[in-house]
Amino acid sequence: MPELPEVETTRRGIEPHLLGKTIDALVVREPRLRWPVPPDLPAKLRGLIVRSVRRRGKYLLLGTDAGTLILHLGMSGSLRIVSPEAPLRKHDHFDLLFGYGSCLRFHDPRRFGCLLWTESDPKAHPLLASLGPEPLEPGFTGRYLQEKARGRSLAVKSFIMDSQVVVGIGNIYASEALFRAGIAPNRAAGRISLSRYEKLADSIRTVLEASIEQGGTTLRDFVNEAGHPGYFRQILAVYERAGEACRRCGSGIRSGRLGQRATYWCARCQK
Ligand SMILES: [Zn+2]
Repeated sequence: MPELPEVETTRRGIEPHLLGKTIDALVVREPRLRWPVPPDLPAKLRGLIVRSVRRRGKYLLLGTDAGTLILHLGMSGSLRIVSPEAPLRKHDHFDLLFGYGSCLRFHDPRRFGCLLWTESDPKAHPLLASLGPEPLEPGFTGRYLQEKARGRSLAVKSFIMDSQVVVGIGNIYASEALFRAGIAPNRAAGRISLSRYEKLADSIRTVLEASIEQGGTTLRDFVNEAGHPGYFRQILAVYERAGEACRRCGSGIRSGRLGQRATYWCARCQK
């Protein structure tokens, strides 16, 4: 599933191809995405210029003078810059065509992605309004986490995966960040000290930034019609390593379910 680093890498990959460019047409081949693509969207977009390519959580926001396109990659979506004549693959659900003979093509076998439109502040859109802070922006600190967790008995891993607490921490990144911070995933969120939350906030940033950096090396895949947009993985410390030796202490990595999600941790390194 595309997580925050993949979405940010996609954003960086498509931005130079879209900024300042005029939308010639939107061609929708399959409007039945997670939410239907609005039927009047092609008429609304024609002739608009893309002024900004931003990200909020895992949403991509393409700003124009008339409103903002809200895109989400869902479970299996990807975007590529292709020539408008590039042969269609199955599950290529829409094309955004630009005057200079290029095309932003959306591919999504499971159709959990979306393409929506708002003429108001996109941050006030129902999908975005309740999102917590961005983990890579200055408002995200150990103190913020500790205050938000006060009195809560929820497991810390579920807590940091809640997009109303902080956006974009998927299962892999939650497991890896908790390992780096030395915090057991099932520890009650309200019973973690400030200094440990500071370490956790740092670990979350480190893990996400390392992934985004690694994504930069695969950036070409997002703009190459031949390439499959490969989602990337940094060297993982615990995720999907059940039974293997902890890279720090050598004891076996444990696995279990927590909040219906597979969870991996080292019982010696994480308390
Ligand atoms: Zn260990």
